[in-house]
Amino acid sequence: MDVYGLIGNPVGHSLSPPMHEAAYETLGIDARYVTFEPDTDAPAAAIDGATALGVAGLNVTIPFKQAVLDAVDADPVAERIGAVNTVDFAPVRAGEADRPRGYNTDAAGVKRAFSHHDVALGGAEAVVVGAGGAGRAAAFALADAGAAVHVANRTAERAVSLAADVPGATGGGLDDLGERIGEADVLVNATSVGMEDPDATPVPAERLHGDLAVLDAVYTPIETRLLREAADAGATAIDGAWMLLFQGVEAFEIWTGRKAPVEAMNAALRAELE
Ligand code: NAP
Repeated sequence: MDVYGLIGNPVGHSLSPPMHEAAYETLGIDARYVTFEPDTDAPAAAIDGATALGVAGLNVTIPFKQAVLDAVDADPVAERIGAVNTVDFAPVRAGEADRPRGYNTDAAGVKRAFSHHDVALGGAEAVVVGAGGAGRAAAFALADAGAAVHVANRTAERAVSLAADVPGATGGGLDDLGERIGEADVLVNATSVGMEDPDATPVPAERLHGDLAVLDAVYTPIETRLLREAADAGATAIDGAWMLLFQGVEAFEIWTGRKAPVEAMNAALRAELE
């Protein structure tokens, strides 16, 4: 039996176990997906321990996504983003490498959430609101897919600093956000606004329009005020569970080399969210 899992602190009530175990069950894979909560100062030791124990794959969440970079051979996307959320131990288990391989599947989650909804990113004008971990992944993903990216953030300096790392991107504060959204094809909310206060939204509703595709990274609640107002404006509204789903789908495919049973994983994830 292969063991997969999630390391974070706290990991709390994670949605990943049911999502991945639905995939194992659907494809008849003999595996379990479990959660681990190592000490916050010991992420590298956790990766070494998992290697020694023969763990097959790990997802990584807050606060370890940056620190784990130093304990793995990171692929170029994870290296550029500066964070790892998926570790594949297969190269070590096969005796082909000394260290596991690290990936950032949050970026793939963003791209695949849009492509699943038939939203073309190549040549699109994209606005990412937020410059934290999710904002970084979204900005790199959209630029990599050929979009022109503007990052807007409450703390403008963080957006400017992130944009400097992303090819062709610009960054700034929230003052001209409405105008930018008015001209955009794609919008990602990568702030936590809408999570604690379901009546809060990071974006002025009157600037949303029918030619826009909106991905809200927030997935609790599943339907945020931003998504309700986006749908009312005729925009394509994509909830955060799609991003979460496709980061998991991408991780599953990296680990197993098999095409993920997306529908089964989506059903398990949404059942858990509800
Ligand atoms: P983070 O690194 O802590 O960044 C938080 C971001 O939100 C920062 O840009 C921050 O701006 C902004 N922000 C917070 N409160 C704000 C407010 N009241 N007004 C305006 N901006 C505000 O967090 P993260 O890891 O990027 O996560 C952000 C959200 O994405 C969370 O809701 C998380 O659950 C979600 N997420 C979803 C997925 C998924 O798969 N769907 C994956 C990762 C994250 P400042 O820089 O000014 O503080």
